[in-house]
Amino acid sequence: MPTNTQTVMVTGASGYIAGWIVKYLLEAGHTVHATVRNPDKAKSVDHLKRIADSAPGTLKLFKADLLDADSFDAPMAGCDILMHTASPFVLDGFTDANEALVRPAVEGTRNVLNAANRCESLKRVVLTSSVASVYGDAIEMKGKKAFTEADWNTTSSVDHNPYQYSKVAAEREAWKIHDDQSRWDLVTINPGMVYGPSLTNASNSASIGTLLDMGRGKLKTGVPDLEYGMVDVREVAQAHLLGAFNPEAEGRYILVSQSVSMLHIAGMLRKQFGRRYPFPMMKVPKPVVWAVGPFMGPVTRKFISRNVGYPLRFDNSRSQALGVTYRPAADTLKDHFEQVLDDGLVRRR
Ligand code: NAP
Repeated sequence: MPTNTQTVMVTGASGYIAGWIVKYLLEAGHTVHATVRNPDKAKSVDHLKRIADSAPGTLKLFKADLLDADSFDAPMAGCDILMHTASPFVLDGFTDANEALVRPAVEGTRNVLNAANRCESLKRVVLTSSVASVYGDAIEMKGKKAFTEADWNTTSSVDHNPYQYSKVAAEREAWKIHDDQSRWDLVTINPGMVYGPSLTNASNSASIGTLLDMGRGKLKTGVPDLEYGMVDVREVAQAHLLGAFNPEAEGRYILVSQSVSMLHIAGMLRKQFGRRYPFPMMKVPKPVVWAVGPFMGPVTRKFISRNVGYPLRFDNSRSQALGVTYRPAADTLKDHFEQVLDDGLVRRR
């Protein structure tokens, strides 16, 4: 058993990214206070219990909801470190963006960090933020070589890119609460679009949806010329541990291995899995995306105008200096799609 183990609270432990964080913490021998909305829901917690059974660390499950201000005191008791990952990550399927995204993200961050202020043992908070908190639309790249941690999303709102708005509003709230106290310091991990195998099939994370759409042929007629900063889920989880345990870690860390277009993602998948899968092969011209996009999915003309056809670049040097080693995007996609096939989510051909 390692000697310098700590007690770490992880909110939203049932999630896609949190699953890997909890795994690495348990494997390193730490005690994990994992919060979930429903600890009795086997699908959300069984994979965590299985990992704990064969790891040196200890897992304790707690029930907590972002909108229940008092629910975080019990799991926080005795913790050295808090990792706050819980936040809704859905891009469609709601009618009220404020209720679905912004209120749980911002009020939830406030509730969790107010509980942190009441916990005498807590020394560091690692917040799962996003590149969505760094920029709003790709058009903001104009005149820049790359986005850095000095950039902030100032263009999203509850009406335009509400998920992005929920992330920047939550991160700003976290920094405000941090600045009003002096016991705990704050590190934020700001990942791009996360791919890679999942330890749970219970997550609704939007990351998993994109790959399913590609494999099931939903995008076979073509994809818009959209770029993402991409990163492997295992590197995102490792960055949370580096941010938590490295005393020198401070501030924001962009987590992006490389920028990829949707067509580039499809090309990497085709190279690995062959042409028998209906991965998209061409770009849809921007005027066509502009005309039909809003009828095909949860995108607005404003989003299309400000994002389609613009390159995206991110400076990941701070995360590399922290100790993150990025694997190639092609390996991430291979591992992820392999799992999608193994799980029967896309028919193996
Ligand atoms: P996920 O699997 O959907 O995880 C989100 C977690 O938040 C779930 O465990 C969910 O718990 C919890 N949650 C949502 N609403 C809640 C509420 N009202 N009270 C308590 N818990 C609540 O998505 P993920 O991709 O792992 O995302 C985790 C974090 O990473 C989020 O903060 C997200 O914004 C951020 N992020 C994700 C990506 C990406 O590409 N995946 C990129 C950048 C940043 P339940 O199981 O109870 O629903």
